[in-house]
Amino acid sequence: MDWYKVIPMGNGITAIGEPRYHQKNWSYLLCGSARALLFDTGSFYGDITQVVSRLTDLPLTVLPSHMHYDHLGNIHRLGNIHLPDLDVLRACATNDQITPNEALFLGATESRDAPTFAVSRWLPIGARIDLGNVTYDVLHTPGHSPDSVSLWCETTQTLLAADFLYPGSLYAQVPGSSLSDYLQSAQSLAAILPPQAHILGAHGGASDFDTATPPTLSPADLSALITTLTDLRDDPPEYHDGTITREVSGRMTLLFNTASMAGFDPDH
Ligand SMILES: [Zn+2]
Repeated sequence: MDWYKVIPMGNGITAIGEPRYHQKNWSYLLCGSARALLFDTGSFYGDITQVVSRLTDLPLTVLPSHMHYDHLGNIHRLGNIHLPDLDVLRACATNDQITPNEALFLGATESRDAPTFAVSRWLPIGARIDLGNVTYDVLHTPGHSPDSVSLWCETTQTLLAADFLYPGSLYAQVPGSSLSDYLQSAQSLAAILPPQAHILGAHGGASDFDTATPPTLSPADLSALITTLTDLRDDPPEYHDGTITREVSGRMTLLFNTASMAGFDPDH
């Protein structure tokens, strides 16, 4: 039984999905003419390296979108791992070996201990990753988590948004989530995305293996999120214990809590 669903998306992008996993993760292999980049390494339930080695012989760089356990599943099988140069990650590293702390990893959810792995390169935010005939810009997009990055390819007008944006329930109710950051990141993305941009997320699609497709969105979905976040900032809900749910659109719901509301200034 196949664990991974592999779907070529054009422009050297291959979506590698795990529709049988309850979180329905999607990682992305990005191939250029000279190098390949694996953006996220999936859950702990499969061996993604076998899929990647079937798909490309190019020298491979690995970049997790953030340190949550469901994106680091195969990190121990991979080398040449690059991480965004963020203080919150550097604080977990010694001599370029990193063990993400539980606030970043959240592995207790599935009884996972955080892995320790070598960081080959710390990528400055804004760095342009050159894969040969195509480049991807590293954008810092905190909100879901403080260490989240997205990748933007200007040539193909594709945004790999990871956990920042996907159809379904957006998680801004976990440790490290911030609605204020979410709004700021969403506004920065909206400023660079043309209306025809493609957005690929890291979770979602059908749970049936045969019909599962990668979660694709458009800048209209990003605009809907901005509207929801702006409304929440300007008219915050009464204090609640636990998770609060707000519908963003027919495709997305935002989960948040009092902790992730912190820093939201109603008077901006
Ligand atoms: Zn996450």
